[in-house]
Amino acid sequence: MEVVFLGVGSSAGTPVIGCSCSTCLSDDPRNRRTRSSIAVTMKNGTALLVDTGPDLRQQALREKILRVDGVLYTHYHADHLNGLDDLRSFCHLQRQPIPVYANEATMQGIVQRFAYAFPSHEQHHWDKPVLRAHSVAETFEVAGTAVTPVPVMHGKYEILGYRIGNMAYLTDVSDISPASLDRLQGLDMLLLDCLRYRFHPTHLNVEQAITWAEKIGARETFLVHMTHELEFSALSARLPTGIYAAYDGLRLQC
Ligand SMILES: [Zn+2]
Ligand SMILES: [Zn+2]
Ligand SMILES: [Zn+2]
Repeated sequence: MEVVFLGVGSSAGTPVIGCSCSTCLSDDPRNRRTRSSIAVTMKNGTALLVDTGPDLRQQALREKILRVDGVLYTHYHADHLNGLDDLRSFCHLQRQPIPVYANEATMQGIVQRFAYAFPSHEQHHWDKPVLRAHSVAETFEVAGTAVTPVPVMHGKYEILGYRIGNMAYLTDVSDISPASLDRLQGLDMLLLDCLRYRFHPTHLNVEQAITWAEKIGARETFLVHMTHELEFSALSARLPTGIYAAYDGLRLQC
């Protein structure tokens, strides 16, 4: 499968509106970050998204994402959810509803905020997204692909990361339970939250991300959900072997 990093930015994106720090003014495209999300393309041609951030439309155009067979939601914070309306383009292209997955609390929040996208009767118009809600806790299948939810703590909320094959995506994490660590054994690729250098109560900072990456022990770890405090080259220079700063548009085979 192929993992496409649609966005690796935190909730404000980089550059931040009104900021003139050196990262925000940088010419390096790796310092331009849209809100965090990935697309995973399978060998059988199907494609899954993890989250639909507010930049989904631009990300899909940029990366030529032409189909979506399912969406895995980590949680309902605006920077992970608010591009949901753009799923209607894929419903229109595919002429069918799209199944979406999350834990129970997140799914309730999504259906509450975007009730119009979950019609109770069959739809044949695609001017709105038409989605099918599924609450998940254990391994499930989407379009022929097995997906394992990995519960993680985001401050006081339990949200989901996801494992697909030997790749796992854990954004917006502050703690990981031993039971969830068991679901992360033998990874080739880990995508991991890394907000900034300073401590934050609901995210990993650089030091904590490195410690968790080493504990989880994936062959390679890629840091995501970064604020403008993290300049790409400066951060890359201080990361241990096997841990990398990701950037928008990065594509990796797994
Ligand atoms: Zn976030
Ligand atoms: Zn800045
Ligand atoms: Zn969040």
